[in-house]
Amino acid sequence: MVRIRGLRKSYGEHVVLQDIDMDIARGEVVVVAGPSGSGKSTLCRCINRLEVADAGDITVAGRPVPLEGRELARLRAEVGMVFQQFNLFAHKTVLQNVSLAPVKVLGRPAEQARERAMELLDRVGVAAHAAKFPAQLSGGQQQRVAIARALAMDPKVMLFDEPTSALDPEMVNEVLEVMKALAADGMTMVAVTHEMGFARSAADRVVFMDAGRIVEEAAPEEFFSAPRSRRAQEFLSKVL
Ligand code: ATP
Ligand code: MG
Repeated sequence: MVRIRGLRKSYGEHVVLQDIDMDIARGEVVVVAGPSGSGKSTLCRCINRLEVADAGDITVAGRPVPLEGRELARLRAEVGMVFQQFNLFAHKTVLQNVSLAPVKVLGRPAEQARERAMELLDRVGVAAHAAKFPAQLSGGQQQRVAIARALAMDPKVMLFDEPTSALDPEMVNEVLEVMKALAADGMTMVAVTHEMGFARSAADRVVFMDAGRIVEEAAPEEFFSAPRSRRAQEFLSKVL
């Protein structure tokens, strides 16, 4: 579903990603872990082209990640992204947040988009708040709305960049549960997270990054019980 070869990205002199090769199969759930500054967010941002790589190839669903125009709009629809900060439209209701883009970008009829939005809000457990504005919701509820908003575009892959790290601890689980349900439903997912419980229970594979490179890649049980690299061992001793 996603294929990355030889990805390289720098900011000025500072190389933040290099020699990144990665394949994410349909239905696969990949957790990306690694210390702060290791390039995890930049990797996600290159996949949906919020950042332009210096070199390398990325394809999503068999098509190269495009530069611009309609193809780029299609890519953004196919690659759903959920950020640490929920980035909901503050002046739109929850329902509008989820139903507007399918109308504007995909040309869906408004009524159909609203129905689908209500289904998705129900699926993430916030349908009762459809008429409210984001500020009237808890952080965990807002993040679940953000997930519903991404799902409304019928993405082929979902990218999560530390979706729970801005949340109060008691709200982390409600978001992880939604992510686990999505994973169990067969969604292709890349999740940057330090929630190692999620990685253990939902990931097919853990990719560990350090200093812009993939240092180690393994099934969760293997990564957690016997990390090979010193950096991964150090990292795990801090987060577990
Ligand atoms: P964190 O766990 O803190 O979110 P990360 O692994 O997501 O870290 P990135 O945000 O991808 O790391 O950043 C990788 C490196 O690139 C860091 O050194 C960061 O300072 C640098 N960087 C990121 N964005 C920019 C930018 N727009 N301009 C310059 N440097 C940047
Ligand atoms: Mg980051």
